[in-house]
Amino acid sequence: MDLGNQRPSDNVEDRRGIGLGGGLGVGGIVVAVVAYFLGFDPGTAIDLAQQVTTQADTRPAPRGAPQDETGRFVAKVLGSTEEVWGAIFERSRAQYRKPVLVLYDGQVRSACGLGQAAMGPFYCPNDERLYLDLSFFRDLQTRFRAPGEFARAYVIAHEIGHHVQKLTGGFKRMQAAQGLSPAQRNRISVRMELQADCYAGVWGHHAGTLNSVTDADIAQALAAATAIGDDRLQQQTQGRVVPESFTHGSSEQRVRWFKRGVDSGRPQDCDTFAAAKL
Ligand SMILES: [Zn+2]
Repeated sequence: MDLGNQRPSDNVEDRRGIGLGGGLGVGGIVVAVVAYFLGFDPGTAIDLAQQVTTQADTRPAPRGAPQDETGRFVAKVLGSTEEVWGAIFERSRAQYRKPVLVLYDGQVRSACGLGQAAMGPFYCPNDERLYLDLSFFRDLQTRFRAPGEFARAYVIAHEIGHHVQKLTGGFKRMQAAQGLSPAQRNRISVRMELQADCYAGVWGHHAGTLNSVTDADIAQALAAATAIGDDRLQQQTQGRVVPESFTHGSSEQRVRWFKRGVDSGRPQDCDTFAAAKL
């Protein structure tokens, strides 16, 4: 994958090395993790934690494209998503509201509660920000042998997919689901996740960066992205996790929906809620 001359986005907030400050919102952690066990991944379900009052960290952090190699890569991928989705929204006579990507170390305050690295990357619909701890990238490479920039870019593009869901009203489904049974919520969660994968593929289609990426690369990147979230959380909760409660969809489903987005380049083809077969 070659991002070449891609313009880096300025919408990166660099909280690395800044720390939390103030007391820890422990309730935020608990609620977010519980939400995860209910079947939502942090990428979508963290909005269930919104009843936890957490103050966003107002201490200033550098804003703009970071200068280090990984930070710069992240800013380039974000810049690419801004261009692709900006054009797609424009074609529908809508405006794409650019999200902010927050880089952090260990823990971070968000409008959805306290985020921590163990949750993996997540999107908070309340403040329209993506939160990314770069240790996730290191793990992709060292533990899951999914090296290369493609797996990393996919992770960002998937979270951007959740942002697109926020802008297009998809998150209302999650809110409406809160009164439903865990099994019903799981089904909605799977469709949300697979749609975000498909949107990531739509980005890949237009970014024109996937020409040299094989099916095996895609499968490996998606499998790694799925595995690492579960693995980390299991480690954190000392084995009390029921694997069946993770409802991102199977790797096979994720690959298929991602590829569907790559092939078509049209977000209309990502309607997992209308699909008879996922
Ligand atoms: Zn997700």
